This record gives sequence, C-alpha cells and structure tokens, in this order.
Amino acid sequence: MPDMMIWIIIAGVLGIIYIILNVVRRSKEKKCREFGHDWDGCKCERCGQTRDEAHDWDGCTCRKCGLEQHDWEYHSCYLKSGGSMIADNRLDFDPYYYVYKCSRCDKRENRDE
Ligand SMILES: [Zn+2]
Ligand SMILES: [Zn+2]
Ligand SMILES: [Zn+2]
Repeated sequence: MPDMMIWIIIAGVLGIIYIILNVVRRSKEKKCREFGHDWDGCKCERCGQTRDEAHDWDGCTCRKCGLEQHDWEYHSCYLKSGGSMIADNRLDFDPYYYVYKCSRCDKRENRDE
C-alpha cells in the first residue's frame, strides 16, 4: 500500500520537526536561565518571554507584547437592563454598572461595582 507509506513518512517528518523545535526552544530557555534574558524592551528576543516594563507604547497598546494599559476615568453610570443613565442618588437600590472611559483612546469598559 504505497499511499499508507506516504502518510507514515509525513507523520515521521512532522514528528522530527516537532522534536527539533522543542530542542531549540529548550536550549533557548536554558540560555536565558543561565545568562539572563536578551531583553528588547519588554520582550525577550531569544525565548519570547515578556515582562511588565519598558513597553513600546502605541497609544494604550504595546507594539511588542500587545499589553493594553488604559487611563481609565469615571464616565457615567447606567442601568443594567434599560441602558439609560440614572442619577447618582439612585445607585443604592438599582442594578447598575459604571462606565469608564480611557482618556487617551476613548475605549470604554463596563464594571460591576
Ligand atoms: Zn529569554
Ligand atoms: Zn510590551
Ligand atoms: Zn486607552
């Protein structure tokens, strides 16, 4: 059955590639453990690990690692069901969520509080 042989060969090749990639990754990680990471800003050039410093901010998103950091400020308050704004003095007894808005990029986020 020649068809079967082709699949066995493909599976074998994929298996070998997988093992090689694993070995390469492990040797990179080992190097990082021994000599420290090769930081390029917030991301290690060698193993791809990220850290929470030296980000390359494009507005509120880091170009390198994709982390978002917004400058949230209180925007308004909405009823959960109706979606209309309600007066602050009714917050005690209505189901509601706060809406925060980022002062830099205008992104909004609802929060239960
Ligand atoms: Zn590293
Ligand atoms: Zn980053
Ligand atoms: Zn933002």
